[in-house]
Amino acid sequence: MLRDKHILLGVAGGIAAYKAVQVAHDLTKAGAKVDVLMTSAATRFVTPLTFQALTHRPVHTDIFEAWTEDFQGHVTLAHQADAALIVPATADMLAKLAHGLADDVIGLTLLSCTAPLLLAPAMESNMYAHPATRQNLATLIERGATVVEAEYGVLASGAMGWGRLAEPDQIVAAVKLMLGRKEGTLVGQRLVVTAGGTQEPLDPVRYIGNRSSGQMGYALAQAALWRGATVTLISGPVRLEPPYGVHFIGVQTAREMEKAVHAALDADAHGQRADVLIMAAAVADYRPTQVSDHKIKKTGNALHLELEINPDILAGLNAQPSLENLLRVGFAAETDDLLRNAEKKLVSKNLDLIVANEAVSSIGAPDNEVTLIERGGKQTPLHRLPKAQVAEAILDKVGEISSRLRATRNGHF
Ligand code: C5P
Repeated sequence: MLRDKHILLGVAGGIAAYKAVQVAHDLTKAGAKVDVLMTSAATRFVTPLTFQALTHRPVHTDIFEAWTEDFQGHVTLAHQADAALIVPATADMLAKLAHGLADDVIGLTLLSCTAPLLLAPAMESNMYAHPATRQNLATLIERGATVVEAEYGVLASGAMGWGRLAEPDQIVAAVKLMLGRKEGTLVGQRLVVTAGGTQEPLDPVRYIGNRSSGQMGYALAQAALWRGATVTLISGPVRLEPPYGVHFIGVQTAREMEKAVHAALDADAHGQRADVLIMAAAVADYRPTQVSDHKIKKTGNALHLELEINPDILAGLNAQPSLENLLRVGFAAETDDLLRNAEKKLVSKNLDLIVANEAVSSIGAPDNEVTLIERGGKQTPLHRLPKAQVAEAILDKVGEISSRLRATRNGHF
């Protein structure tokens, strides 16, 4: 998504400027054209040559840079930018931007720039907490800037406090999120994605679970965020980091997941209901009837467990008329008769789309070979692909079905 995007990277004069080098490197590696702007204070910490060597593009430090026919200094840089970011955004730079000053190359260029702006502040903790800084940040947020807040940790002085620059990978993730919100195919849509396997406790230390790694659901949440959607990720216990920018809800059991799904489908603080539910979680069909308060002791005899049936989360949504317009996507992981069983589930769970995959080769694996089956039976088989690409294909299909449903609802056939 960053390929050939023009990114303005403003580097202000703080010690965290050295981390902007990594950001420039990572954005360039992802295919972006990174134009670095540096204040003269920034050049005391890192040299323009460092950025030039990494981005393979000229670095801009001078507001009086010569214009040519093709390059009109800050005007060209500002107009061609798809996104702008300031790393580190020092207290001085935030004050300048909040007041619209143009006495350095960053302030000058950003005044001409209408692209979305991301600020990654870094400074000493009292400077960060100072009312002037807070007010400047609030002003910039009100004008539409996105802020990757500074973190708590060891500062340049050696003291602990708030003001440490966010990590470069988080800043790059925030740039992707911002670009998605500007031009992604799912802007304005609210998605709820479930992931991972549920765990059904037997006693305080044991549970019945499955081998789901959560990779498919997390890949879907990530891809939807980068397409500009608002995403709630409801996950069983897995070893993955929730994607940057997701609204995360961790659960353990099927019944907890059911409750979380119902709450997430309801209208959010802005009164928006969910548009799409993707149930990628491997929900346990059964749970132990009795959960012991104490660790079950070994007796030397066989132990018989009684299991009772868990609620079917997807099927349970059918009775709710308020969810009539919800686009529903389910998964079918089968060991036998894959397509026929998946089709049956598509109908019995009243789904718009089911993703059929062979259970043994997909669960826990980094890639997956799936067939997408739509309501009505249309099948789209895909090759074995990394789960991130399977997620893209599923979201393409979701986009297609969603525009068809909207057109039908609005009476355009
Ligand atoms: O019936 P089966 O478990 O194979 O169905 C798979 C699909 O149904 C998945 O999308 C899964 O997340 C969902 N499911 C559910 N509630 C359950 C079991 C599965 O919503 N109790």
